[in-house]
Amino acid sequence: MVEISIVVPCFNESEVIDAFHTAVLAALGPTGASFEICYVDDGSGDGTVERLRELARADSRVRYTSFSRNFGKESAMLAGMRMSRGDAVVLMDADLQHPPELVPRMLELHQHGYDQVVAQRDRSGEGAVRSAFSRAYYRLVRRFMEVEIADGAGDFRLLSRRAVDAILSLPESNRFSKGLFSWIGFDTVSFRYENVERAAGASKWGGRRLLNYGIDGLLSFNSRPLRLAIHTGLWLFVSALLYALWIVANALLNGVDTPGYATLIAAIVGLSGVQLATLGVIGEYVGRIYHEAKRRPHYVVRETDRSAAVDARTGR
Ligand code: UDP
Ligand code: MG
Repeated sequence: MVEISIVVPCFNESEVIDAFHTAVLAALGPTGASFEICYVDDGSGDGTVERLRELARADSRVRYTSFSRNFGKESAMLAGMRMSRGDAVVLMDADLQHPPELVPRMLELHQHGYDQVVAQRDRSGEGAVRSAFSRAYYRLVRRFMEVEIADGAGDFRLLSRRAVDAILSLPESNRFSKGLFSWIGFDTVSFRYENVERAAGASKWGGRRLLNYGIDGLLSFNSRPLRLAIHTGLWLFVSALLYALWIVANALLNGVDTPGYATLIAAIVGLSGVQLATLGVIGEYVGRIYHEAKRRPHYVVRETDRSAAVDARTGR
């Protein structure tokens, strides 16, 4: 039985994977713990999988799974947790933004009985705009969600075996890990570390991808946006009613004077906006139901370290 599984989603990380691997070995070696490193290649097109094949050939503690295309980090983390066999699982990014030196500290806290140990980064060195948006987003999330998500608490964390099993027992296909981690509960402890720039390569999270991720997060945990749509609609209805009464009263007392073209247009435009937004929210949920109902797997595997071993045997 291995004590620790390091789970690493990798998408086009061939530039940093070797540095990452060396850093992990250097950090874990002195602890004397037995470990395995589970790399998940998320459909990279830059030779990441070739690097993984070599690492696995050189070291039996390295295992990997490679997807048939890019399925996203959530799916890659899921695959990594599924293949992990350790008593504790540490989720890490491949770009060295999650410093491997912190893993021994996480292990120590885990040995004190915590099921989840979260390394929370501060936002130093991050663009002012992005960090302002993130902060605002987490304020919104805290208001809306039934689960608690801390700002800066990313996916860099240690999970005990029972916490991993709890995560793996959640069947949804729209996965928002930050929410799932919080949903499963268990004793959780967090500590802060200073934000690090990625070692090489580029971030895969452009503006649009981040926005979609944010929407997923807000919608995947509750139906409060639907409730908000109903509230807005009711308030608008009440104000429209009052306004109509005022117009009628005004017409009765002072006689009809203006054709009211401007107000009419304003009301139509305003209400159509609200209706469209509400429809959008409903559509989003219906889409999610449709998506879940299809029960598709989260990813398709192209090859694993075991299939590579088979290849070596048959000489193919
Ligand atoms: N990643 C992935 N699939 C994706 C996008 C990212 O497996 O579709 C991995 C990526 O290789 C890295 C981690 O997720 O190990 C975090 O990605 P990135 O560094 O691009 O995100 P950022 O640190 O900018 O939030
Ligand atoms: Mg990164």
